[in-house]
Amino acid sequence: MTASFFEKFKLLENFGHSLSAPAYLFQPQSAEEIHEIFKLAKSNNLTVALRGAGKSYNDASLNGGGIVLDLQRMDRILEWDPGSGCLTAEPGLSLCQLWQTTLPDGWWPPVVSGTMVTTLGGCLGMNIHGKNNFRMGPIGEHVTEFTALLPSGAELNCSPKKNGDLFRAMIGGLGMLGVFTSITLQMKRVYSGLLNVHAWNVPDLETHLGGIAESAPEHNYTVGWLDCTARGRGLGRGQLHTADYLAEGDDPNPARSLRVDTQTLPDKFFGLVPKSLLHFFMAPFMCNPGVWGVNTAKYLIGRDKTYRQTHAAFHFLLDYVPDWELAYGRLLQHQSFLPKETALAAWTEMLSLAQRRSLPAYLGVTKRHRPDGFLLTHAVDGFSLALDFKVTASNRLRLAQTLEDFDRIVLDAGGRFYFAKNSETSAESARRFLGEEIIAKFRLLKKRCDPNHLLESDLYRRVFGDDR
Ligand SMILES: Cc1cc2nc3c(=O)[nH]c(=O)nc-3n(C[C@H](O)[C@H](O)[C@H](O)COP(=O)(O)OP(=O)(O)OC[C@H]3O[C@@H](n4cnc5c(N)ncnc54)[C@H](O)[C@@H]3O)c2cc1C
Repeated sequence: MTASFFEKFKLLENFGHSLSAPAYLFQPQSAEEIHEIFKLAKSNNLTVALRGAGKSYNDASLNGGGIVLDLQRMDRILEWDPGSGCLTAEPGLSLCQLWQTTLPDGWWPPVVSGTMVTTLGGCLGMNIHGKNNFRMGPIGEHVTEFTALLPSGAELNCSPKKNGDLFRAMIGGLGMLGVFTSITLQMKRVYSGLLNVHAWNVPDLETHLGGIAESAPEHNYTVGWLDCTARGRGLGRGQLHTADYLAEGDDPNPARSLRVDTQTLPDKFFGLVPKSLLHFFMAPFMCNPGVWGVNTAKYLIGRDKTYRQTHAAFHFLLDYVPDWELAYGRLLQHQSFLPKETALAAWTEMLSLAQRRSLPAYLGVTKRHRPDGFLLTHAVDGFSLALDFKVTASNRLRLAQTLEDFDRIVLDAGGRFYFAKNSETSAESARRFLGEEIIAKFRLLKKRCDPNHLLESDLYRRVFGDDR
Protein backbone atom coordinates (compact mmCIF):
# COMPACT_ATOMS: atom_id res chain seq x y z
CA MET A 1 0.00 0.00 0.00
CA THR A 2 1.28 3.47 -0.90
CA ALA A 3 1.07 6.76 1.08
CA SER A 4 -1.69 8.00 -1.26
CA PHE A 5 -3.69 4.88 -0.36
CA PHE A 6 -3.54 5.80 3.35
CA GLU A 7 -4.61 9.36 2.53
CA LYS A 8 -7.91 7.89 1.45
CA PHE A 9 -8.67 6.68 4.98
CA LYS A 10 -11.76 8.66 6.08
CA LEU A 11 -14.43 8.46 8.75
CA LEU A 12 -17.78 7.89 7.03
CA GLU A 13 -21.22 8.23 8.61
CA ASN A 14 -24.77 7.07 8.01
CA PHE A 15 -27.44 9.64 7.14
CA GLY A 16 -28.45 10.20 10.78
CA HIS A 17 -24.86 10.66 12.08
CA SER A 18 -25.55 7.93 14.63
CA LEU A 19 -23.13 5.38 13.13
CA SER A 20 -19.65 5.82 11.71
CA ALA A 21 -16.82 3.66 10.40
CA PRO A 22 -13.39 4.46 8.95
CA ALA A 23 -12.70 3.21 5.43
CA TYR A 24 -10.53 3.82 2.35
CA LEU A 25 -12.72 6.08 0.23
CA PHE A 26 -12.40 5.87 -3.56
CA GLN A 27 -14.42 7.94 -6.05
CA PRO A 28 -14.18 6.16 -9.41
CA GLN A 29 -15.35 7.77 -12.62
CA SER A 30 -15.60 4.70 -14.85
CA ALA A 31 -16.19 0.94 -14.81
CA GLU A 32 -12.49 0.46 -15.64
CA GLU A 33 -11.49 2.32 -12.47
CA ILE A 34 -13.89 0.20 -10.41
CA HIS A 35 -12.32 -2.93 -11.88
CA GLU A 36 -8.84 -1.68 -10.89
CA ILE A 37 -10.07 -1.03 -7.32
CA PHE A 38 -11.46 -4.56 -7.10
CA LYS A 39 -8.03 -5.89 -8.09
CA LEU A 40 -6.36 -3.65 -5.49
CA ALA A 41 -8.81 -4.84 -2.81
CA LYS A 42 -8.15 -8.47 -3.65
CA SER A 43 -4.39 -8.11 -3.52
CA ASN A 44 -4.59 -6.29 -0.17
CA ASN A 45 -7.16 -8.66 1.32
CA LEU A 46 -9.71 -5.87 1.75
CA THR A 47 -13.46 -5.88 1.24
CA VAL A 48 -15.39 -3.30 -0.83
CA ALA A 49 -18.72 -1.62 -0.08
CA LEU A 50 -20.62 0.59 -2.53
CA ARG A 51 -21.98 3.99 -1.64
CA GLY A 52 -24.28 6.35 -3.49
CA ALA A 53 -25.13 9.55 -1.60
CA GLY A 54 -24.79 7.70 1.75
CA LYS A 55 -28.39 8.52 2.67
CA SER A 56 -29.38 5.16 4.11
CA TYR A 57 -30.32 5.53 7.76
CA ASN A 58 -28.08 2.63 8.79
CA ASP A 59 -24.77 0.95 7.99
CA ALA A 60 -25.67 -0.02 4.39
CA SER A 61 -22.84 1.99 2.84
CA LEU A 62 -20.29 1.72 5.66
CA ASN A 63 -17.42 -0.77 5.66
CA GLY A 64 -15.23 -0.48 8.75
CA GLY A 65 -11.57 -1.04 7.85
CA GLY A 66 -12.31 -1.80 4.19
CA ILE A 67 -12.78 0.12 0.95
CA VAL A 68 -15.85 2.23 0.16
CA LEU A 69 -16.58 3.16 -3.45
CA ASP A 70 -18.44 6.47 -3.62
CA LEU A 71 -20.11 6.34 -7.03
CA GLN A 72 -21.44 9.89 -7.18
CA ARG A 73 -18.88 10.96 -9.80
CA MET A 74 -20.41 8.49 -12.26
CA ASP A 75 -23.46 10.67 -12.84
CA ARG A 76 -23.77 11.09 -16.61
CA ILE A 77 -27.04 10.74 -18.48
CA LEU A 78 -26.18 8.37 -21.31
CA GLU A 79 -29.47 8.57 -23.20
CA TRP A 80 -32.76 10.44 -22.81
CA ASP A 81 -35.69 9.94 -25.15
CA PRO A 82 -38.45 12.49 -24.41
CA GLY A 83 -40.72 10.64 -26.86
CA SER A 84 -40.80 7.34 -24.96
CA GLY A 85 -39.75 8.56 -21.49
CA CYS A 86 -36.86 6.08 -21.39
CA LEU A 87 -33.68 7.26 -19.67
CA THR A 88 -30.30 5.55 -19.32
CA ALA A 89 -27.82 6.92 -16.79
CA GLU A 90 -24.81 6.08 -14.71
CA PRO A 91 -25.56 5.03 -11.11
CA GLY A 92 -24.36 8.22 -9.41
CA LEU A 93 -27.09 10.35 -11.01
CA SER A 94 -29.19 11.88 -8.22
CA LEU A 95 -32.98 11.86 -8.28
CA CYS A 96 -32.69 15.66 -8.38
CA GLN A 97 -30.64 15.57 -11.60
CA LEU A 98 -33.07 12.96 -12.93
CA TRP A 99 -36.35 14.86 -12.52
CA GLN A 100 -34.77 18.18 -13.50
CA THR A 101 -33.81 16.60 -16.84
CA THR A 102 -37.12 14.91 -17.58
CA LEU A 103 -39.89 17.05 -16.05
CA PRO A 104 -39.69 19.90 -18.61
CA ASP A 105 -40.44 17.19 -21.22
CA GLY A 106 -43.46 15.95 -19.20
CA TRP A 107 -41.97 12.93 -17.39
CA TRP A 108 -41.59 12.32 -13.63
CA PRO A 109 -39.70 9.42 -11.95
CA PRO A 110 -42.19 6.59 -11.35
CA VAL A 111 -40.94 6.10 -7.77
CA VAL A 112 -39.01 8.54 -5.57
CA SER A 113 -37.69 8.58 -2.02
CA GLY A 114 -38.59 11.33 0.46
CA THR A 115 -35.38 13.17 -0.48
CA MET A 116 -34.07 13.96 -3.95
CA VAL A 117 -30.38 13.70 -3.05
CA THR A 118 -30.30 9.90 -3.30
CA THR A 119 -28.61 8.31 -6.34
CA LEU A 120 -30.12 5.95 -8.89
CA GLY A 121 -27.60 3.23 -7.94
CA GLY A 122 -28.40 3.60 -4.22
CA CYS A 123 -32.14 3.57 -4.95
CA LEU A 124 -31.77 0.33 -6.91
CA GLY A 125 -29.43 -1.17 -4.32
CA MET A 126 -32.27 -0.86 -1.79
CA ASN A 127 -35.19 -1.00 -4.26
CA ILE A 128 -36.84 2.10 -2.83
CA HIS A 129 -40.59 2.59 -2.50
CA GLY A 130 -42.57 5.82 -2.70
CA LYS A 131 -45.91 7.10 -1.47
CA ASN A 132 -47.39 5.19 -4.43
CA ASN A 133 -46.01 1.75 -3.53
CA PHE A 134 -49.51 0.19 -3.40
CA ARG A 135 -49.98 1.19 -7.05
CA MET A 136 -46.55 1.40 -8.75
CA GLY A 137 -44.50 -1.08 -6.69
CA PRO A 138 -40.81 -0.36 -5.95
CA ILE A 139 -38.44 1.43 -8.35
CA GLY A 140 -37.15 -1.92 -9.64
CA GLU A 141 -40.47 -2.54 -11.42
CA HIS A 142 -39.69 0.42 -13.69
CA VAL A 143 -36.14 -0.57 -14.59
CA THR A 144 -36.13 -2.03 -18.08
CA GLU A 145 -32.46 -3.07 -17.95
CA PHE A 146 -29.16 -2.43 -16.23
CA THR A 147 -25.49 -3.22 -16.72
CA ALA A 148 -23.55 -4.47 -13.73
CA LEU A 149 -19.84 -4.96 -13.17
CA LEU A 150 -19.07 -8.06 -11.11
CA PRO A 151 -16.04 -8.21 -8.80
CA SER A 152 -14.46 -10.65 -11.30
CA GLY A 153 -14.42 -7.89 -13.92
CA ALA A 154 -17.23 -9.46 -15.95
CA GLU A 155 -19.91 -7.07 -17.24
CA LEU A 156 -23.44 -8.34 -17.25
CA ASN A 157 -26.62 -7.08 -18.86
CA CYS A 158 -29.83 -7.81 -16.94
CA SER A 159 -33.51 -7.20 -17.64
CA PRO A 160 -36.66 -8.87 -16.34
CA LYS A 161 -36.21 -11.45 -19.16
CA LYS A 162 -32.41 -11.61 -19.54
CA ASN A 163 -30.61 -12.96 -16.44
CA GLY A 164 -33.96 -12.50 -14.68
CA ASP A 165 -32.83 -14.19 -11.44
CA LEU A 166 -29.96 -11.72 -11.10
CA PHE A 167 -32.21 -8.82 -12.11
CA ARG A 168 -34.55 -9.60 -9.21
CA ALA A 169 -31.69 -10.24 -6.77
CA MET A 170 -29.36 -7.33 -7.62
CA ILE A 171 -32.21 -4.83 -7.36
CA GLY A 172 -32.59 -4.63 -3.60
CA GLY A 173 -29.40 -6.72 -3.28
CA LEU A 174 -27.65 -4.18 -0.98
CA GLY A 175 -24.79 -3.75 -3.48
CA MET A 176 -23.50 -7.20 -2.54
CA LEU A 177 -23.63 -8.93 -5.94
CA GLY A 178 -22.13 -6.34 -8.29
CA VAL A 179 -22.00 -2.64 -9.21
CA PHE A 180 -24.74 -1.10 -11.37
CA THR A 181 -22.82 0.84 -14.03
CA SER A 182 -25.74 1.90 -16.20
CA ILE A 183 -29.47 1.86 -15.47
CA THR A 184 -32.41 2.27 -17.86
CA LEU A 185 -35.60 3.57 -16.30
CA GLN A 186 -39.07 4.06 -17.75
CA MET A 187 -40.36 7.43 -16.54
CA LYS A 188 -44.03 8.29 -15.85
CA ARG A 189 -45.92 10.63 -18.23
CA VAL A 190 -47.34 13.74 -16.51
CA TYR A 191 -49.33 16.61 -18.01
CA SER A 192 -48.60 19.17 -15.33
CA GLY A 193 -45.95 20.03 -12.77
CA LEU A 194 -48.71 20.14 -10.15
CA LEU A 195 -50.59 17.55 -8.11
CA ASN A 196 -54.09 17.80 -6.61
CA VAL A 197 -53.55 17.26 -2.89
CA HIS A 198 -56.13 16.54 -0.17
CA ALA A 199 -55.21 16.65 3.55
CA TRP A 200 -57.32 15.75 6.57
CA ASN A 201 -56.95 14.82 10.24
CA VAL A 202 -57.51 11.31 11.63
CA PRO A 203 -58.22 10.95 15.39
CA ASP A 204 -56.70 7.52 16.19
CA LEU A 205 -54.71 4.62 14.76
CA GLU A 206 -57.71 2.62 13.58
CA THR A 207 -59.11 5.57 11.60
CA HIS A 208 -55.58 6.35 10.41
CA LEU A 209 -54.96 2.91 8.88
CA GLY A 210 -58.56 2.64 7.66
CA GLY A 211 -58.21 6.01 5.93
CA ILE A 212 -55.02 4.97 4.12
CA ALA A 213 -56.52 1.65 3.06
CA GLU A 214 -59.70 3.29 1.75
CA SER A 215 -58.01 6.17 -0.04
CA ALA A 216 -55.20 4.17 -1.69
CA PRO A 217 -57.27 2.56 -4.48
CA GLU A 218 -58.71 5.95 -5.43
CA HIS A 219 -55.50 7.98 -5.58
CA ASN A 220 -52.02 8.04 -7.11
CA TYR A 221 -50.28 8.72 -3.79
CA THR A 222 -51.20 8.40 -0.13
CA VAL A 223 -49.15 9.05 3.00
CA GLY A 224 -49.82 9.65 6.68
CA TRP A 225 -48.13 11.68 9.39
CA LEU A 226 -48.50 10.04 12.81
CA ASP A 227 -48.25 11.96 16.08
CA CYS A 228 -46.32 9.49 18.25
CA THR A 229 -46.73 11.65 21.38
CA ALA A 230 -50.55 11.34 21.47
CA ARG A 231 -51.78 8.90 24.12
CA GLY A 232 -54.94 7.07 25.15
CA ARG A 233 -57.82 7.44 22.72
CA GLY A 234 -55.68 9.70 20.53
CA LEU A 235 -52.95 7.06 20.06
CA GLY A 236 -52.00 6.95 16.38
CA ARG A 237 -53.78 10.16 15.43
CA GLY A 238 -52.36 12.24 12.62
CA GLN A 239 -52.93 13.64 9.17
CA LEU A 240 -53.40 11.87 5.85
CA HIS A 241 -52.49 13.26 2.46
CA THR A 242 -53.52 11.95 -0.93
CA ALA A 243 -52.23 13.32 -4.23
CA ASP A 244 -53.23 12.88 -7.85
CA TYR A 245 -51.75 13.75 -11.22
CA LEU A 246 -53.68 16.31 -13.23
CA ALA A 247 -55.31 14.97 -16.38
CA GLU A 248 -54.29 16.39 -19.75
CA GLY A 249 -55.90 19.84 -20.08
CA ASP A 250 -56.50 20.38 -16.33
CA ASP A 251 -53.50 22.67 -15.91
CA PRO A 252 -54.05 26.01 -17.66
CA ASN A 253 -50.30 26.55 -17.98
CA PRO A 254 -48.40 23.23 -18.01
CA ALA A 255 -45.41 24.77 -19.79
CA ARG A 256 -44.90 26.91 -16.69
CA SER A 257 -45.62 24.31 -13.99
CA LEU A 258 -43.30 21.76 -15.64
CA ARG A 259 -40.38 24.19 -15.54
CA VAL A 260 -37.58 23.43 -13.08
CA ASP A 261 -37.66 26.94 -11.58
CA THR A 262 -41.37 26.53 -10.75
CA GLN A 263 -40.57 23.34 -8.85
CA THR A 264 -37.39 24.48 -7.14
CA LEU A 265 -37.79 24.79 -3.39
CA PRO A 266 -37.02 28.33 -2.15
CA ASP A 267 -33.75 28.72 -0.22
CA LYS A 268 -35.18 31.20 2.30
CA PHE A 269 -37.94 30.57 4.82
CA PHE A 270 -40.63 33.31 4.80
CA GLY A 271 -38.29 35.02 2.28
CA LEU A 272 -35.95 35.92 5.17
CA VAL A 273 -34.25 33.10 7.05
CA PRO A 274 -31.76 31.05 4.98
CA LYS A 275 -33.04 27.50 5.18
CA SER A 276 -29.55 26.23 5.94
CA LEU A 277 -29.93 27.83 9.41
CA LEU A 278 -33.33 26.32 10.17
CA HIS A 279 -32.05 23.18 11.87
CA PHE A 280 -30.47 25.38 14.57
CA PHE A 281 -33.94 26.80 15.37
CA MET A 282 -35.48 23.32 15.36
CA ALA A 283 -32.93 21.77 17.73
CA PRO A 284 -34.39 23.20 21.02
CA PHE A 285 -37.75 21.59 20.16
CA MET A 286 -36.19 18.14 19.75
CA CYS A 287 -37.11 16.88 23.21
CA ASN A 288 -40.25 15.07 24.44
CA PRO A 289 -42.17 18.20 25.59
CA GLY A 290 -41.04 20.19 22.52
CA VAL A 291 -42.21 17.55 20.05
CA TRP A 292 -45.46 17.07 21.99
CA GLY A 293 -46.12 20.84 21.72
CA VAL A 294 -45.32 21.06 18.00
CA ASN A 295 -47.32 17.90 17.16
CA THR A 296 -50.33 18.98 19.23
CA ALA A 297 -50.35 22.39 17.50
CA LYS A 298 -49.98 20.73 14.08
CA TYR A 299 -52.88 18.38 14.82
CA LEU A 300 -55.15 21.06 16.29
CA ILE A 301 -54.70 23.52 13.44
CA GLY A 302 -54.92 20.72 10.83
CA ARG A 303 -57.96 21.27 8.60
CA ASP A 304 -59.61 19.30 5.83
CA LYS A 305 -58.18 21.05 2.76
CA THR A 306 -57.57 20.59 -0.94
CA TYR A 307 -54.88 22.42 -2.84
CA ARG A 308 -52.40 22.16 -5.70
CA GLN A 309 -48.74 21.55 -4.98
CA THR A 310 -45.67 21.02 -7.18
CA HIS A 311 -44.28 17.48 -7.49
CA ALA A 312 -41.04 18.54 -5.76
CA ALA A 313 -42.85 20.14 -2.80
CA PHE A 314 -45.14 17.13 -2.31
CA HIS A 315 -42.42 14.49 -2.54
CA PHE A 316 -39.40 16.22 -1.07
CA LEU A 317 -40.88 18.10 1.88
CA LEU A 318 -37.90 17.06 4.02
CA ASP A 319 -35.51 18.76 1.58
CA TYR A 320 -37.14 22.09 2.51
CA VAL A 321 -34.85 22.11 5.54
CA PRO A 322 -31.29 21.22 4.49
CA ASP A 323 -29.48 19.04 7.04
CA TRP A 324 -32.68 18.80 9.14
CA GLU A 325 -31.31 15.62 10.72
CA LEU A 326 -28.71 17.76 12.53
CA ALA A 327 -31.57 19.12 14.68
CA TYR A 328 -31.71 15.62 16.18
CA GLY A 329 -27.97 15.46 16.78
CA ARG A 330 -28.01 11.72 16.17
CA LEU A 331 -30.90 9.97 14.50
CA LEU A 332 -32.05 6.39 13.95
CA GLN A 333 -35.09 5.17 12.06
CA HIS A 334 -37.12 2.01 12.62
CA GLN A 335 -39.43 1.09 9.74
CA SER A 336 -41.71 -1.90 9.97
CA PHE A 337 -43.92 -3.40 7.27
CA LEU A 338 -47.00 -5.24 8.52
CA PRO A 339 -49.82 -7.16 6.87
CA LYS A 340 -53.06 -5.18 6.92
CA GLU A 341 -54.64 -7.73 9.30
CA THR A 342 -52.05 -7.35 12.08
CA ALA A 343 -50.82 -3.75 11.76
CA LEU A 344 -53.29 -2.13 14.15
CA ALA A 345 -52.59 -4.43 17.11
CA ALA A 346 -48.81 -4.53 16.61
CA TRP A 347 -48.38 -0.77 16.22
CA THR A 348 -50.70 -0.07 19.15
CA GLU A 349 -48.36 -2.22 21.24
CA MET A 350 -45.21 -0.56 19.87
CA LEU A 351 -46.42 3.04 20.23
CA SER A 352 -47.62 2.36 23.78
CA LEU A 353 -44.36 0.64 24.73
CA ALA A 354 -42.29 3.57 23.42
CA GLN A 355 -44.41 6.02 25.43
CA ARG A 356 -44.11 3.96 28.63
CA ARG A 357 -40.33 4.12 28.22
CA SER A 358 -40.42 7.90 27.51
CA LEU A 359 -39.14 7.23 24.01
CA PRO A 360 -41.80 8.57 21.65
CA ALA A 361 -40.62 8.79 18.05
CA TYR A 362 -40.32 12.42 16.97
CA LEU A 363 -41.66 11.65 13.50
CA GLY A 364 -43.98 8.86 12.36
CA VAL A 365 -44.85 8.24 8.69
CA THR A 366 -47.29 5.65 7.37
CA LYS A 367 -47.72 4.26 3.85
CA ARG A 368 -49.74 1.61 2.01
CA HIS A 369 -47.84 -1.22 0.26
CA ARG A 370 -48.27 -4.25 -1.92
CA PRO A 371 -45.95 -7.27 -2.39
CA ASP A 372 -43.40 -7.45 -5.23
CA GLY A 373 -41.27 -10.15 -6.83
CA PHE A 374 -37.76 -9.05 -5.79
CA LEU A 375 -35.64 -11.54 -3.85
CA LEU A 376 -34.91 -9.51 -0.69
CA THR A 377 -38.19 -7.61 -0.75
CA HIS A 378 -39.41 -5.63 2.25
CA ALA A 379 -42.94 -5.14 0.95
CA VAL A 380 -46.18 -6.71 2.23
CA ASP A 381 -49.86 -6.38 1.45
CA GLY A 382 -50.34 -3.90 4.23
CA PHE A 383 -48.75 -0.79 5.68
CA SER A 384 -45.41 0.58 6.79
CA LEU A 385 -44.65 2.77 9.77
CA ALA A 386 -41.36 4.69 9.85
CA LEU A 387 -40.37 6.04 13.27
CA ASP A 388 -37.53 8.56 13.76
CA PHE A 389 -35.75 8.49 17.13
CA LYS A 390 -33.27 10.93 18.59
CA VAL A 391 -30.25 9.04 19.96
CA THR A 392 -28.57 10.45 23.05
CA ALA A 393 -25.92 9.14 25.44
CA SER A 394 -28.61 8.65 28.09
CA ASN A 395 -31.22 6.88 25.93
CA ARG A 396 -28.95 4.77 23.70
CA LEU A 397 -29.30 1.52 25.67
CA ARG A 398 -33.01 1.98 26.39
CA LEU A 399 -33.59 2.73 22.70
CA ALA A 400 -31.61 -0.34 21.59
CA GLN A 401 -33.70 -2.52 23.93
CA THR A 402 -36.92 -0.91 22.67
CA LEU A 403 -36.02 -1.46 19.02
CA GLU A 404 -35.25 -5.10 19.80
CA ASP A 405 -38.70 -5.36 21.41
CA PHE A 406 -40.22 -3.71 18.33
CA ASP A 407 -38.55 -6.33 16.12
CA ARG A 408 -40.01 -9.14 18.20
CA ILE A 409 -43.51 -7.61 17.98
CA VAL A 410 -43.21 -7.07 14.21
CA LEU A 411 -41.90 -10.57 13.50
CA ASP A 412 -44.60 -12.17 15.67
CA ALA A 413 -47.15 -10.21 13.63
CA GLY A 414 -45.76 -11.56 10.33
CA GLY A 415 -43.97 -8.31 9.41
CA ARG A 416 -40.78 -7.41 7.56
CA PHE A 417 -37.99 -4.83 7.74
CA TYR A 418 -36.29 -2.59 5.20
CA PHE A 419 -32.51 -2.85 4.88
CA ALA A 420 -32.15 0.90 4.08
CA LYS A 421 -33.53 1.96 7.44
CA ASN A 422 -33.22 -0.32 10.45
CA SER A 423 -29.94 -0.53 12.29
CA GLU A 424 -30.69 -3.37 14.67
CA THR A 425 -32.09 -6.09 12.36
CA SER A 426 -30.14 -9.23 13.25
CA ALA A 427 -29.25 -12.31 11.19
CA GLU A 428 -31.89 -14.21 13.14
CA SER A 429 -34.59 -11.59 12.38
CA ALA A 430 -33.66 -11.61 8.69
CA ARG A 431 -33.95 -15.40 8.64
CA ARG A 432 -37.39 -15.14 10.20
CA PHE A 433 -38.90 -12.71 7.72
CA LEU A 434 -37.00 -13.68 4.56
CA GLY A 435 -37.00 -17.42 5.20
CA GLU A 436 -34.16 -19.94 4.83
CA GLU A 437 -34.91 -20.63 1.18
CA ILE A 438 -34.58 -16.98 0.08
CA ILE A 439 -31.38 -16.55 2.06
CA ALA A 440 -29.92 -19.73 0.54
CA LYS A 441 -30.82 -18.43 -2.95
CA PHE A 442 -29.15 -15.08 -2.25
CA ARG A 443 -26.03 -16.82 -0.96
CA LEU A 444 -25.84 -19.00 -4.04
CA LEU A 445 -26.02 -15.94 -6.28
CA LYS A 446 -23.41 -14.20 -4.13
CA LYS A 447 -21.05 -17.17 -4.62
CA ARG A 448 -21.66 -17.01 -8.37
CA CYS A 449 -21.13 -13.24 -8.71
CA ASP A 450 -18.55 -12.66 -6.00
CA PRO A 451 -16.68 -15.93 -5.29
CA ASN A 452 -13.86 -14.14 -3.44
CA HIS A 453 -16.28 -12.28 -1.16
CA LEU A 454 -14.93 -8.87 -2.10
CA LEU A 455 -18.26 -7.08 -1.66
CA GLU A 456 -19.13 -6.59 1.98
CA SER A 457 -20.58 -3.81 4.11
CA ASP A 458 -21.23 -3.41 7.83
CA LEU A 459 -24.91 -4.09 7.09
CA TYR A 460 -24.06 -7.28 5.20
CA ARG A 461 -21.86 -8.59 8.04
CA ARG A 462 -24.63 -7.77 10.54
CA VAL A 463 -27.42 -9.51 8.64
CA PHE A 464 -25.62 -12.24 6.67
CA GLY A 465 -22.58 -12.40 8.95
CA ASP A 466 -22.36 -16.16 9.12
CA ASP A 467 -21.95 -16.40 5.33
CA ARG A 468 -18.30 -17.32 4.65
C1 LIG B 1 -34.81 12.00 4.23
C2 LIG B 1 -34.86 10.60 3.66
C3 LIG B 1 -36.05 10.13 3.14
C4 LIG B 1 -36.12 8.84 2.62
N1 LIG B 1 -37.31 8.41 2.10
C5 LIG B 1 -37.38 7.17 1.57
C6 LIG B 1 -38.59 6.70 0.98
O1 LIG B 1 -39.59 7.41 0.93
N2 LIG B 1 -38.61 5.44 0.47
C7 LIG B 1 -37.50 4.63 0.50
O2 LIG B 1 -37.59 3.51 0.02
N3 LIG B 1 -36.35 5.04 1.06
C8 LIG B 1 -36.27 6.29 1.58
N4 LIG B 1 -35.09 6.73 2.12
C9 LIG B 1 -33.94 5.82 2.12
C10 LIG B 1 -33.10 6.01 0.85
O3 LIG B 1 -33.92 6.21 -0.27
C11 LIG B 1 -32.28 4.75 0.62
O4 LIG B 1 -31.49 4.50 1.73
C12 LIG B 1 -31.39 4.87 -0.63
O5 LIG B 1 -30.79 3.62 -0.85
C13 LIG B 1 -30.33 5.94 -0.44
O6 LIG B 1 -29.68 6.18 -1.67
P1 LIG B 1 -28.14 6.57 -1.67
O7 LIG B 1 -27.78 7.00 -3.05
O8 LIG B 1 -27.85 7.52 -0.58
O9 LIG B 1 -27.49 5.15 -1.41
P2 LIG B 1 -26.57 4.65 -0.20
O10 LIG B 1 -27.28 4.84 1.07
O11 LIG B 1 -25.21 5.23 -0.34
O12 LIG B 1 -26.50 3.10 -0.57
C14 LIG B 1 -27.65 2.30 -0.48
C15 LIG B 1 -27.33 0.88 -0.94
O13 LIG B 1 -27.14 0.84 -2.34
C16 LIG B 1 -25.91 0.22 -2.64
N5 LIG B 1 -25.39 0.87 -3.86
C17 LIG B 1 -25.09 2.17 -4.02
N6 LIG B 1 -24.68 2.38 -5.29
C18 LIG B 1 -24.71 1.19 -5.92
C19 LIG B 1 -24.39 0.75 -7.24
N7 LIG B 1 -23.95 1.58 -8.18
N8 LIG B 1 -24.54 -0.57 -7.53
C20 LIG B 1 -25.01 -1.44 -6.59
N9 LIG B 1 -25.33 -1.08 -5.34
C21 LIG B 1 -25.18 0.22 -5.02
C22 LIG B 1 -25.05 0.44 -1.41
O14 LIG B 1 -24.04 -0.53 -1.30
C23 LIG B 1 -26.07 0.31 -0.31
O15 LIG B 1 -26.30 -1.03 0.03
C24 LIG B 1 -34.97 8.01 2.62
C25 LIG B 1 -33.77 8.50 3.13
C26 LIG B 1 -33.71 9.79 3.64
C27 LIG B 1 -32.41 10.30 4.18
